[in-house]
Amino acid sequence: MAYFESKRIAGRHYLQIPGPSTVPDRILRAMDNATMDHRGPDFGKFTAQLLEKVKFVFKTTGPVVIYPASGTGAWEAALANTLSPGDRVLMCETGWFAHLWRELAERLGIRPEFIKTDWRRGADVAGIEARLREDKGHEIKAVAVVHNETSTGSTSRIAEVRAAIDAAGHPALLLVDTISGLGSMDYRHDEWGVDVTISGSQKGLMLPPGISFNAISAKAIRASAEAKIGRSYWDWGPMLKSNATGYFPSTPATTMLYGLDTALDMMAEEGLENVFARHDRHAEATRRAVRAWGLEVQCEDPRHYSSVLTAVRLPEGHSANALRATILEQHNMSLGNGLGQLNDRVFRIGHLGDFGNLDLVATLGGVEMGLAAAGVPHKPGGVQVAMAYLAGNAGPQG
Ligand SMILES: *Cc1c(COP(=O)(O)O)cnc(C)c1O
Repeated sequence: MAYFESKRIAGRHYLQIPGPSTVPDRILRAMDNATMDHRGPDFGKFTAQLLEKVKFVFKTTGPVVIYPASGTGAWEAALANTLSPGDRVLMCETGWFAHLWRELAERLGIRPEFIKTDWRRGADVAGIEARLREDKGHEIKAVAVVHNETSTGSTSRIAEVRAAIDAAGHPALLLVDTISGLGSMDYRHDEWGVDVTISGSQKGLMLPPGISFNAISAKAIRASAEAKIGRSYWDWGPMLKSNATGYFPSTPATTMLYGLDTALDMMAEEGLENVFARHDRHAEATRRAVRAWGLEVQCEDPRHYSSVLTAVRLPEGHSANALRATILEQHNMSLGNGLGQLNDRVFRIGHLGDFGNLDLVATLGGVEMGLAAAGVPHKPGGVQVAMAYLAGNAGPQG
């Protein structure tokens, strides 16, 4: 799998970054298919059922639009379709991805307000409510929150954010980035009253990078009629119009859509709730291993633990990047780097997507061997602790 080196490394490459995740063979085979005429009759039928089928993973009955773009494109689409230049948006600095979303908003001419956190927990719900209560003139047009902050392994409790907006009696839209949460952790677009849900293909959905999503509420569609940020490619209007007949205004990522269709089948076959329970189990086993090593998990609030990834802090004076380099070289496994202020301070273990118990044992084994080889002070035996937990909680898929 080492495409850029002449030396072959035996065994599979462990892609344990928190997205892109490993693409299962069944999805790769589904994508290995002739490109269809995207204006032809078969394609319209295929798309019409796919656009219906995709809704279950968002837990919505409303429209979901699909862009050939990475998650960042769907971020831009969510803002450009609902807001006007100069609008205020309330955001929460949960980590690096919240920071990037804020920068994107500023470039679009939006005025974000950022509620600070220490990057060790999810969104500050009380802070959001307090700020909205202050905003008597309803200048804040949207609250934008990252559901699963992939840079820290902290999750924001979206149902509580919704409750805070309602308690303040504020009409702001709720925009949620679940690019790395969807398909791995419980997510409920309709029940949580989310107006735009943003997601991407390459994390919990087990697909390669390349497509991204907006799930859209009726209120968001109404807002789009007034929104003045310039938009063309991202405009929901022509997209929804074409989608209604099973087509797209421009060429869709045909091959990715074949993969999406199969990914959704696989999730339905396993059962969405079983998918979530599996991720919860692997995250708990990972945190137990980390504690047994005597290391610290970046997320400090157990209610905000992410089931998608675990960010692990290195002891003072030790380099997370050196550890990652050792593990890649010796064990052919990629781990996530620390982003922004966490660069070199943490490494991130992705345990998402098509990932079983033995994959986790191998992953944690690679980390434990790497800690020893890189000279990071730790207690051995974390893998044993994780295995004991998995043995008692093996789950339906063993
Ligand atoms: C990966 C990720 C993004 C960025 O998505 P791209 O597909 O790289 O554009 C944004 N937000 C979160 C929470 C992510 O995990």
